[in-house]
Amino acid sequence: MMKSKQLKSILSKTSVNSNALIVEQHKTLAAQLPTTYAVVILTFIVFVLSYYGSAPNWITLYVPIPFILVSAARMKYWLGLASTIDDIPIEKRRADISSVIAFAPTLSFLFSVLAVAIAQYGGVHNRIEAIFLIWIVAFVTAFSISCLPKASITTLIVSSVPLVGLLLSSGEGVLQLFAVTFLLLSALVIRMLITNYHSFYTLIQSRIVVDEKHREAELARAEITQIAFNDELTGIVNRNGFYRILNQKIADAGQGNTGFAVGILGLDGFKTINDLYGYEGGDTVLQQTAFRLERAMNGKGNVARLGADEFAILIDDTNDVSAVEHLGDELRELIRSPFWLSHNSAMLTCSLGFSIFSNGGETAHKLLENAEQALFLSKSSGRSTTSVYDQALAESVFRRSRIEQELRLAIRDDQVDMYFQPIVDMNTGALVSFEALARWTHEELGFVTPDVFIDIAEQSGLIGDLTNNLLRKAAITAKLWPAHIKLSFNLSAQQVTQPNAGLELVSILGDVGLNPNRVEMEITETAIMGDIDKALLTLDNLKSAGISIVLDDFGTGHSSLSQIRDLPLDKVKIDKCFIDHICTDRKVNRIIRSVLSLCSDLGLACVSEGIETVEQYEALLECKGVLGQGYLFSRPVTPEKSLEMATIDQRAMLPEALSHSA
Ligand code: C2E
Ligand code: CA
Ligand code: CA
Repeated sequence: MMKSKQLKSILSKTSVNSNALIVEQHKTLAAQLPTTYAVVILTFIVFVLSYYGSAPNWITLYVPIPFILVSAARMKYWLGLASTIDDIPIEKRRADISSVIAFAPTLSFLFSVLAVAIAQYGGVHNRIEAIFLIWIVAFVTAFSISCLPKASITTLIVSSVPLVGLLLSSGEGVLQLFAVTFLLLSALVIRMLITNYHSFYTLIQSRIVVDEKHREAELARAEITQIAFNDELTGIVNRNGFYRILNQKIADAGQGNTGFAVGILGLDGFKTINDLYGYEGGDTVLQQTAFRLERAMNGKGNVARLGADEFAILIDDTNDVSAVEHLGDELRELIRSPFWLSHNSAMLTCSLGFSIFSNGGETAHKLLENAEQALFLSKSSGRSTTSVYDQALAESVFRRSRIEQELRLAIRDDQVDMYFQPIVDMNTGALVSFEALARWTHEELGFVTPDVFIDIAEQSGLIGDLTNNLLRKAAITAKLWPAHIKLSFNLSAQQVTQPNAGLELVSILGDVGLNPNRVEMEITETAIMGDIDKALLTLDNLKSAGISIVLDDFGTGHSSLSQIRDLPLDKVKIDKCFIDHICTDRKVNRIIRSVLSLCSDLGLACVSEGIETVEQYEALLECKGVLGQGYLFSRPVTPEKSLEMATIDQRAMLPEALSHSA
């Protein structure tokens, strides 16, 4: 048996305003009340039949009949709920329960009063029958609504009061004993009702707990899915999520859907954003990129963040290369507009690589790998382009990676050579300096141009070792030339911004024993402008060691002469693309003329590169060009040949036909 405190607490739990409890109570009532009403109706009928004629009609007919009708209506109502019991709104359930709480005790009480009233008209036998009828109605009602403990107990109590009053006041010992029995029985039943409710409540409670746990598990699963398949920073799908979408897409494509394209977008120079604006700035750029891409791809496909500064794109329903390229161009334009950070704005470009699924049985992994290769090609071909994967691209990527592997070995085995191309005084034909140019011929790959392998060396981190090797070799040869002949050495764009590059190069010259005053470093303007502060540091280091600085490929970048005026330069090389048109294009001719005159005003020497014809040579002389370099004078030569050239007659560098006139 339960302690009374426990009982109280259980009873008070009926006030727990839990919807789940309401639902269960309502369902229990719906299951039990129709039968209860059937019993009540039958009891009333027995009552009417037993007493009709022997008592006044108001007791035997006028009060019971409406009761029977109301009970029948209630029974019909509760029976009607059975078919829709799971869909009933909570408000309606509450209202139904309230009506039961009000109706059940009232019904029992009125019946009890009625039975007590009728008992006046008969003998002991009649009274005992009345007692039984009251018992039946009271107990059945109380039990059937035991899920509403207060209403249930109230029902029992209000039915007993008139009855016990009647029995005790009868003055007959048997009936008084009956009253006591009835009271004891009622007490016992109340206990049973409470126990009953306790079990009911515990059951519901545990069901609520189970439901709650189930809901929590569902939430946790949703959360895990969210974490597993979404990128925390940008909120868009992550690599795993993208694989999921892609695999589904491939499965759908197998069922006759059209092809689609998979792309990877890489932000160019994102690292610089982090360096300049901190991680906060970098995060903002990534978030805005995700937002722009999602908006652009809305209705056309999907976007995901693969990691770092790479995003994936899925373009629905296309296997057309030009459509993919067109979309790639649109996305590049989108990234090109400024990113707004808290205090500044940043400008970025991006590169894209795509692969197309056209039912060739590619896997998600393969599609992304191909897109990655196409991206790699976009990035290595000067960045900010779109490439679409195809067989030719695959071969070129393959060749590139083969070159990278072989270059690594070639550097280790000292297989990359230095050739030297003369730079001459076009007025006198004197040899002024040699530009050192790297040469590498591989037994299987054949001759690999320096443009290609220098770029690969930069991308694969080999450029430092390669440059050091080349400078050492060049310096060893240069040391053998007469002292007035200088060495012009090309410095890669990447090295110009390396913190210690300048010092390292100077120390190599020291090792070899070549006076730095005899060395010029050729640097392109794009290399300097890429990160001007770091570049200036390297230039200062070189200059203070006595090395001259030459601006290479002048005219191909975006800087103007006024900008380069502020750089610590000694010499400018006008790019071959201008020399090519000096005789045919008046505008080009004028540009060359003004560059030459400006250099002379600024006290800078100026070399014209790529002179191939006598006409170009003469045009340059006419423009007051002094220094020249090109196949007209000599192609790059071996170290031995350079030594030979350096020690012969000063005027020998002019072509045969010109040497007499100069
Ligand atoms: P660059 O510094 O502009 O070098 C000049 C290029 O023009 C050389 O090509 C040279 O052979 C070529 N050239 C010279 N005169 C003529 C001419 O009259 N006609 C034609 N058609 N071409 C001429 P190369 O040796 O293939 O080098 C290409 C580029 O590779 C160089 O351009 C330079 O940027 C890079 N490079 C070459 N050697 C090195 C090196 O040792 N280190 C670094 N960092 N880059 C190098
Ligand atoms: Ca050069
Ligand atoms: Ca050049």
